[in-house]
Amino acid sequence: MTLTHRKNTRPVKVGNVMVGGKNEVIIQSMTTTKTHDVEATVKEILRLEEAGCQIVRVACPDERAADAIAEIKKQINIPLVVDIHFNYKLALKAIEGGADKIRINPGNIGKRDKVEAVVNAAKEKGIPIRIGVNAGSLERHIIEKYGYPTSDGMIESALHHIKILEDLDFYDIIVSLKASDVHLAIEAYEKAAAVIDYPLHLGITESGTQFAGSIKSAAGMGAILSKGIGNTMRISLSADPVEEVKVARELLKTFGLASNAATLISCPTCGRIEIDLIKIANEVEDYISTIKAPIKVAVLGCAVNGPGEAREADIGIAGARGEGLLFRHGEIIRKVPEDIMVEELKKEVDKIAEEFLAK
Ligand code: SF4
Repeated sequence: MTLTHRKNTRPVKVGNVMVGGKNEVIIQSMTTTKTHDVEATVKEILRLEEAGCQIVRVACPDERAADAIAEIKKQINIPLVVDIHFNYKLALKAIEGGADKIRINPGNIGKRDKVEAVVNAAKEKGIPIRIGVNAGSLERHIIEKYGYPTSDGMIESALHHIKILEDLDFYDIIVSLKASDVHLAIEAYEKAAAVIDYPLHLGITESGTQFAGSIKSAAGMGAILSKGIGNTMRISLSADPVEEVKVARELLKTFGLASNAATLISCPTCGRIEIDLIKIANEVEDYISTIKAPIKVAVLGCAVNGPGEAREADIGIAGARGEGLLFRHGEIIRKVPEDIMVEELKKEVDKIAEEFLAK
């Protein structure tokens, strides 16, 4: 199993996290609180950290938000990205406050001296700039040229912003090309990977609610990740941002791109079922969400074919009449009474995770 990403890019450092190069895909999310409300924002970021978020972004719509950056930075443990739209003064303030990266499109800042001021400040602090191209807000001349948002138009926009930075001798760049149309996003990222050497931040924007948005994001980003493209990612959901992190982790696990997360294998259930599998599977899923080792745990409704089919599981349980059969790599190791089988499974999971982490 390979845990590194296949498309090698220029590595870019965001705080203490390396993005791109041969590094793993980094999970990001964005806070939903008012950034000037330091207490609420920090609280949300700490919840995101616990869920496995590795870089967090906050909106910076006004001066109050920019003023809060320094205090937020002091109270959190992961790199902080500050999202600025046009106002270069807010960018300067955020950089001064200790932002680990800013998201701003240099072509939107305005006069050259303003762009230079932001770029020089970022250079001085050694922080990168993310260029965020969005299909829904492409420059007017690009829309006029292509007629509507196209992947070529998105690439043209990205290259335009990149050139502004490169002309100022600035190369700590990360690029995103978000679209809410999955086909458009896939096409844009594929084309970008061929012509842009900077790390790519993946996103399917405005993807929807927790349920629909998770599926849409997984479909779109899954297609992109499967081609070895993408260095950081955010699942955008109309939901608690912790859900974004959970979905991102699950998606990365699916592709073997997360080295620090356990996976659950559970049977779809059928008429042979001997235990309350749905409840047990949810309980085990919840339990392993905090395990920081890439182990596979299986939960099966019966012992007919289950253990054999879940041979790749490091540890698992299969239901039998009044008891559970604990199995490892497809082999049954012992029987446990039904009322304690989940507790027994959890103990085994902890043991295996410890063994793995001690390696
Ligand atoms: Fe049915 Fe047993 Fe297979 Fe689950 S493991 S789907 S209960 S046969």
